[in-house]
Amino acid sequence: MRRRRLKRRSFLVRSSAVLGTGCLATRPGGATAPKERPRAKHPPHPVVVASANGFPHCTARVMEELLGGSEVADAVVAGVTLVEDDPSDHSVGLGGLPNEEGVVELDASVMDGATGLAGAVAALRGIKNPSQVALRVMRYTDHALLVGEGARRFARAHGFPEQELLTDEARKIWLYWKSTLSDQDDWLPPDPAELPPRAKEMFGITGTINCDAVDGQGNLAGVTTTSGLAFKIPGRVGDSPLVGAGLFVDNEVGAAGSTGRGEANIVTCGSATVVEGLRQGKAPVDACLMACRRIVEATRVARLRRPDGRPDFDVKFYAVDKGGRFGGAAIWSGGRFAVHDGKGNRLEDMAYLFES
Ligand code: ASP
Repeated sequence: MRRRRLKRRSFLVRSSAVLGTGCLATRPGGATAPKERPRAKHPPHPVVVASANGFPHCTARVMEELLGGSEVADAVVAGVTLVEDDPSDHSVGLGGLPNEEGVVELDASVMDGATGLAGAVAALRGIKNPSQVALRVMRYTDHALLVGEGARRFARAHGFPEQELLTDEARKIWLYWKSTLSDQDDWLPPDPAELPPRAKEMFGITGTINCDAVDGQGNLAGVTTTSGLAFKIPGRVGDSPLVGAGLFVDNEVGAAGSTGRGEANIVTCGSATVVEGLRQGKAPVDACLMACRRIVEATRVARLRRPDGRPDFDVKFYAVDKGGRFGGAAIWSGGRFAVHDGKGNRLEDMAYLFES
């Protein structure tokens, strides 16, 4: 873990001038944005944001690392590692839902503002911490993205152990999906009594963890890690390992990441759009709403739209800027995100475009 000397800033000297705008409750698009203030050079205290599955452990760990002097990229990776290691989270790392053939394939990216470098892996099999592998791609190669077998070999070369990532529970959910796909084949559904709770709700689910942070010196980093779309076609790569889509960081401006339908985010460069919004001086919540709107406008084909024309999927964005302002927004209402800003480790409601 890389550590740098920390200028520890007091929890108490928290200037409202810099941290004023967090998540402004659910502010549907069209509402008047607050007057923007000049962007601060650094926050009075480190700030961490994450998708809701980062609460409470990931965000707490990242804050602990930052206060202990870790570099921001190390801190965010240490935080999401806890979720990758957790077999009960079926959207990330160990226990992630597999591809259609029952094989877990993981995607992750890391981006470091201070160096302007990124590292990523996609369709990585057998290694439970793709975020750590992505960090090594960033630091120990001249590349930004390794995929499939090459990513696996690179991870092995760096000493990552190989293991079966398909837990028994994830295997049962996958088998249930497979056996109920068609009544024209020879697969029969299992006894419902043997099914994990909520097995059916997992069909076609997405899930991921994104975590972004700024330290007391205004250095930013972010990470996004996922098992991707449940039961995907083998080799499918989502937005999470794609810099600009599932993650983007600019040390002069802010960091943003995303969860939700990756294909929609890829074609709109979602996280880069959020950071561009921050660059224009938008509050993080408004920059996130702007990226959501961009996706709505770009969703033109009927199979992705409800009868009223709105997208039949969700995408969520999380952002923190250089001054420590933070926010999150989604296409649909009901989402929450995790934040730890020295005032506490908590979940907050996301802003949204449409009421679910
Ligand atoms: N964005 C991820 C993907 O498309 C999934 C998710 O976040 O729900 O792979």
